[in-house]
Amino acid sequence: MTPVFIISAPSGSGKSTLVNAIRTNVDRLEFSVSYTTRMPRGSEENGREYYYTSREVFERMIERGEFLEYADVFGNYYGTAKRFLQDATGRGHDLLLDIDVQGAGQIQKNLPDAVSIFILPPNRQELEKRLRRRSSAERMTDEAVIQRRLETATREIEKYEEYDYILVNDQLSDSIDALKAIILSERLKAEGRKPSRSDEEQMTKLAESRRLENVRPILGPILESFRRATA
Ligand code: 5GP
Repeated sequence: MTPVFIISAPSGSGKSTLVNAIRTNVDRLEFSVSYTTRMPRGSEENGREYYYTSREVFERMIERGEFLEYADVFGNYYGTAKRFLQDATGRGHDLLLDIDVQGAGQIQKNLPDAVSIFILPPNRQELEKRLRRRSSAERMTDEAVIQRRLETATREIEKYEEYDYILVNDQLSDSIDALKAIILSERLKAEGRKPSRSDEEQMTKLAESRRLENVRPILGPILESFRRATA
């Protein structure tokens, strides 16, 4: 069975940087390029970050049952085509899905063995800083957009318990190591192997340290920083 990895994170958590690093760092792992009705941003290219499409085409694909999951995010459709999973499975590769919490819920229902990972920012203040830095880099300093993203982040973060693993993205290099360890240790498990070499044991230990139940004790202040801002 091909492992499917789901990664979700509030906008601005550094997920894209993390996913890009993993794409070049782990073999036999394919990245699912989603369809979206939003416009390309910055240097994005059709077929690399997303397939950009009209609402008409997207809705036709929904009718034909071509999506494994899809959702409305920030007023645009985003969806994962079933054929990416079929193609990856055919090549014996794992598939990495970068999707929102709504899509993750649909996948977990349809593919209960999927491994899910939630990326959290270290706190609300840091997330706000990153969102502002990104929007000024894109020359789109729209306060309303930043506020909407912060509100959405606050809602999404409350869904952390639906995920198998939690990465608090404080130091990028630590998050990359942990994400890689999760993927490789889940592969071992899918192959029915126990860690035998010392590097495999270390990797499994690192992955286990990011399991929801093991991360739970440090989540209080992070969740609190978001809840306080909306109280
Ligand atoms: P952005 O427009 O910033 O690239 O992405 C906005 C959000 O849409 C992110 O949370 C991203 O994970 C999510 N997203 C991207 N592709 C998909 C998809 O195929 N399905 C779902 N459900 N969400 C997606």
